[in-house]
Amino acid sequence: MPPDHRITTLTGLDAAFLTERIGGRQTLIWGMGSRAEEVVCVLKRASLLCHGWIHTTAPAATYWDIPVWDAACLDRLDPRDHFVIYAGSVGFWSLASQHLKTQGFLSSQDYLQAYTLTRLIAQIEVVNKPLRPLPEIFAPFDPGLNLTVHLPLDKVDRIVTALKGVPSLSRIIIGIAGEPLAHPQCVSILKVMSTVASVSLQTSLTHIAAQDWPAALAIRQLRWMISPPPDDHPTAMEFLAQWPVLVNHYNHMPAEDRHRIAIHIANSGNFARVRRMANEAGLKVLAHLPFPFPYSRLLGESGYVSYRWLDADVFARMREEQAGVCRAQRVFPVISATGELVNCHLWQAEKLDDQWLDKSFQEYVIMRNTSVQCRRCLKAGLHRLDEHLDLNPNAN
Ligand code: SF4
Repeated sequence: MPPDHRITTLTGLDAAFLTERIGGRQTLIWGMGSRAEEVVCVLKRASLLCHGWIHTTAPAATYWDIPVWDAACLDRLDPRDHFVIYAGSVGFWSLASQHLKTQGFLSSQDYLQAYTLTRLIAQIEVVNKPLRPLPEIFAPFDPGLNLTVHLPLDKVDRIVTALKGVPSLSRIIIGIAGEPLAHPQCVSILKVMSTVASVSLQTSLTHIAAQDWPAALAIRQLRWMISPPPDDHPTAMEFLAQWPVLVNHYNHMPAEDRHRIAIHIANSGNFARVRRMANEAGLKVLAHLPFPFPYSRLLGESGYVSYRWLDADVFARMREEQAGVCRAQRVFPVISATGELVNCHLWQAEKLDDQWLDKSFQEYVIMRNTSVQCRRCLKAGLHRLDEHLDLNPNAN
C-alpha cells in the first residue's frame, strides 16, 4: 500500500527556499524564545547565519554569541539589507507584520513567520522509569515491569551522529514519560546533545545530585521544562526539597540565562500552589498540555473532560479536518530508552526498528510513513488533535 500523503507531506519551507529567499541579506530573528532558538538551529543546518535577535527588553548584549538588537532597530531596518523571521508570540504577529510592512517589507519576500519553516524535533527517552504507571500504549518506553532502563552510553554517540544527519533539526527534547535526571550520566548526555541543536529537558526536578546542578545549568543551549510531580506522588517531597536549590541557583544566574528556565504546570491539584511558588520566585510559568491517549478508549474516556480546554468542539473539528496533514510528524525521530526508534510521541509508541542507527534518515522516514500505527491514527483523524490544542486559546 502506498504511503498516505497526510503523513508524507513534510510541512514547511525548506533550507533551499530559505537560502534563495534570504539572498545574502542580514537575517534577524524577532524573538528570543524557544521558537527563535529553533530558527537559529535551522539556519545553522542550512549554513546560514543569524545576525541578530530582536527583543523589546534585550536582557543582554549577546545570546548564543549572537548580538541582541533592541526593538528600536525595527524603525531602521531596510528590506534591501535585512530579512526578518518572526518568532515572537502568536498574538503579536499581526502588529509585527503591520510594522514591517510600513518599513517596506513584503510578506514572504522579506519576512516570514517561524511557523512556516520546516523544523524537525527529535525526542529521546533516556530513562524509562515513569513518574506514574504508564498506560499500555507506552509499552515500548517501558520495556519491562519494574525494570529501569537507562539509555546506553555507547548508543549516545551513535544517536548524535544520526541526529546530525537529520535535515532541519531544530530541537531535541530529552524525556517523554521518564525522568531524565535519574540517568547517572544525564548531564553528559545533555551536553553532547546540545552540540547538535537546542535541547529541552522535561523534568520533575527529582533525582538531580547537588554536584550536578552547576554543570547542568551552565549548558547554554538547554531549556528547562520543569513539571512538578502530583502531590500524592512519592517524589513530591523530593521536588519540594529541590525547589529552594533551584531558586537559589536561579537568583545567581546571569539575566540572559534565566529565561531558559520555566515551570510547566498541568491541570492537576497542585496547579495554584505551584503557580504561587513560581511567581514568588520570579520563575516563568507555562501551561503544560498533557496529551490524552486516544487509542485507549478513543474519544469517550472520562479523563478528557477534566481538561476544560479539550472540549467536544475540538473533536468535531478534528474529524472535519481528517484530510489535513499530520503536524505531529514534525517530532521525529523519537528514540526509546533502549535506543530503539519508535514511531510517534503522541499516540501508540510502536517500535519501528532497533537497527535504525545503521540506516539513513530517508530510510527511517519511510518506515514511519508506512507504519500500521500512522494508518490507524489517520483513519481516526487523531493526527489533527495536537493542531487544535496548539490553537485553542484556552490552553494558554
Ligand atoms: S501516529 Fe503520530 S506521526 Fe503517525 S499519523 Fe498519528 S500523529 Fe502523525
